[in-house]
Amino acid sequence: MTKKQLQIGVLALQGDFERHEHQLSLVGAYPVQVRLPSDLDQLDGLIIPGGESTTMNYLVDRYNLRSPLLAFGKARPIWGTCAGMIMLAKNIEDNLSGVEPFGLIDIDIVRNGYGRQVFSFTDKVEATLNGSLAVLDATFIRAPRVTRAGSGVTVLAHYRNSPVLVAQGRVMASSFHSELENDTRVLEYFLKQFVAP
Ligand code: GLN
Repeated sequence: MTKKQLQIGVLALQGDFERHEHQLSLVGAYPVQVRLPSDLDQLDGLIIPGGESTTMNYLVDRYNLRSPLLAFGKARPIWGTCAGMIMLAKNIEDNLSGVEPFGLIDIDIVRNGYGRQVFSFTDKVEATLNGSLAVLDATFIRAPRVTRAGSGVTVLAHYRNSPVLVAQGRVMASSFHSELENDTRVLEYFLKQFVAP
């Protein structure tokens, strides 16, 4: 029996959606750029990429995607990286940006929470994926820091005492970028754990 090819959307309003598309191709999934509400129809899951959450938030409204994305996230698997994590969070601390997060995962975050001077760095992060330890090269680019994770949230990885990879129900969120290299372990975890268990 041949396995059905998974169709995974990548919100393609701005940000680094192309890197996620590349990784999806590497694991044999079919990437779909999402810009219209109807682009969500056939998807098995969705990735909200990194980028700039203030711009993304604005474009979500411009493209009439707010309630379709919220409905999607309540029913189907969704993974947000970096700015995508900000969009999925319950609450943004000291929110002066006007970003209205979807509240799909019970975490609070602070934007740019790993320091403004150091805009970008890569470090090792130890994650527990499918019960085994994975040492990942994680890139933090003005990344959000998780300041609270609710009791229903599973923390899959910490970095400097803060959760950096979290999940609740079918929603996963990561502070760091795992899609910049060809290491697809975090993506494969998302697909196996939440999209096609
Ligand atoms: N600091 C950015 C924001 O607040 C996120 C950065 C990223 O996605 N790499 O939107």
